[in-house]
Amino acid sequence: MAISDSEIAQVRAATDIVALISEYVALKKTGRRWTGLCPFHGEKTPSFSVNAEEGRYYCFGCRASGDQITFVREMQHLDFVEAVRLLADRAGIELHEDANAGPARKERQELLAAMEKAVEWYHERLLNSPDARPARDYLRSRGISGETARQFKLGWAPDEWDALSNTLKMNEKILTGTGLGFVNKRDRRQDALRARLIFPIFDSAGRAIAVGGRILPPDPHKPAREDGRVEAKYKNSPETTIYSKRKSLYALNWAKDDIIKSGEIIVCEGYTDVIAFFGAGMPRAVATCGTALGEDHFKTMRNFATRIVLAYDADKAGQSAAASVYQWERQHEVDVLVARLPKGSDPAELAQKDPEGLRQSIATAVPFLQFRLDRVLDAANLSTPEGRVRTAEAAMQVLAEHPSELVRDQYLMQVADRLRLEPSALRPRVADFARNPVRREIPNKPPQEEASTRRRITSGPMPRPGLEALRLYLHFPREARERFIAQYFVNEIQREIFEGLATGSPVSEVIDALERSGEEEAASVLSQLVVDELDREYTSEDVTAVVSQLLRSAVGEGLRNVERELRDGTISPDVAMATIRDVKERVFLLETPHGEVAEKDLRSWLLTRSVSTP
Ligand SMILES: [Zn+2]
Repeated sequence: MAISDSEIAQVRAATDIVALISEYVALKKTGRRWTGLCPFHGEKTPSFSVNAEEGRYYCFGCRASGDQITFVREMQHLDFVEAVRLLADRAGIELHEDANAGPARKERQELLAAMEKAVEWYHERLLNSPDARPARDYLRSRGISGETARQFKLGWAPDEWDALSNTLKMNEKILTGTGLGFVNKRDRRQDALRARLIFPIFDSAGRAIAVGGRILPPDPHKPAREDGRVEAKYKNSPETTIYSKRKSLYALNWAKDDIIKSGEIIVCEGYTDVIAFFGAGMPRAVATCGTALGEDHFKTMRNFATRIVLAYDADKAGQSAAASVYQWERQHEVDVLVARLPKGSDPAELAQKDPEGLRQSIATAVPFLQFRLDRVLDAANLSTPEGRVRTAEAAMQVLAEHPSELVRDQYLMQVADRLRLEPSALRPRVADFARNPVRREIPNKPPQEEASTRRRITSGPMPRPGLEALRLYLHFPREARERFIAQYFVNEIQREIFEGLATGSPVSEVIDALERSGEEEAASVLSQLVVDELDREYTSEDVTAVVSQLLRSAVGEGLRNVERELRDGTISPDVAMATIRDVKERVFLLETPHGEVAEKDLRSWLLTRSVSTP
């Protein structure tokens, strides 16, 4: 299989790297570059930089670096070709690959297109069809306006066997591929969802990938189902090539902006809760889609915000596996909090009855450990010494689950205070529980060693003038181009970089070429330089200053060679002395009114030297 270099270049050029990375990570513009939290390692202060013009990213924390293609490869665990295809799709570029490579991609596109059509069709039915009246009434009764229904593209699946598959003429492959339907025993096409309110699920780039269907509450005027079967309240699309439950978060496509702005993400249990948060002025809510909150969700969320608020019903939140929550907090450097929802109420109800209360519940969310402790303490009978001791035991068990001894001790004092017990009496208990956990422990997976696959810069510090020169060359090629030559760079790596850049190829291609020829360190230094911030606009005086510095170091190196040749007897003392004197004189003249001539002379001298001593 082959994608031509020109097509790869075309895909790169068509992909705005800032827009691409923003689908996963919040980027902020600082000066000429964009920065954000690195998606490849957990961090709380941004060390991830993006250069929009050159299409490069670099992380000063874990040294992850690359272009649009590398980014997609690492984020989605794709190989090179898959990543190029994905970006080509995204940019609407038709690749001329060989015939074997196309089908999977083509199938994906077909499924996405079919899903989009289905979502439109369901939506249209909800808005306009007479049979959707009960659905519209239900939405209104839950405080969901027509405007909201349009924003979330809500839909209605009519109470018919094959309305969708028939109208949209979906074949079996499309029906099963999208999960929108199937072929039944009587060999007839059948819709998967019927008489249900439809909540379409989009990926973070806003493409429809699945649907969730909710039944309406039973109509008291209508007879129950003849077979007496009770249907599940929610029915979601199955896993397909375009839909992974583990990775999807409902409404992330709409919530992204506010999540980034607020640094907070609210996780709900259901679609209507999410919609309620949007309605109450907190458009930063998402929901898992028919699966528990897991590792992959955290990987996605930590790229957008570090404060994760669970807006679950208290009992449900209490059931979250504490061990994994603490592990995710540590591994992804996020804070998991629990909203203080009034007992027995869900966000959707609360938004209708008391929107201010809903806002308060988020504003006063407490750390997960605090929430778990409060539950133990609130349920306790503290009026007798025995009750207090029993409560203390239970609280110490909860405390012991937390991996940090320091954190445990902070909360321990709080518990001791509330139970009127001595902290010193509780410490041995919590230590006991921590050593011998009584509950089922989720095996502690070590954080993935992602960094091991990355290159490291191995050599010592780079000479400053050379780095400055390369930076100038990258950002001001016009002014710098004529003033620099490879001989100015005494550091070999810097010289390789310069020679690559001097070819005039785009930086990404220069980096590729360096990597291909095994110059990994040069590739890495360049990857970093290209996202480096310039603290101000440079002028031609700056170029002159950098040229002088570079020349001084290059000339110093040249003079040392002359001295060596003198010792070796390759040149006569007279010639050596004259050369040294001439060169030093000209170095002295740099940055004076005669600088221009001196620069030219020194440049010629360096050029002739490099010819004689290759
Ligand atoms: Zn990083």
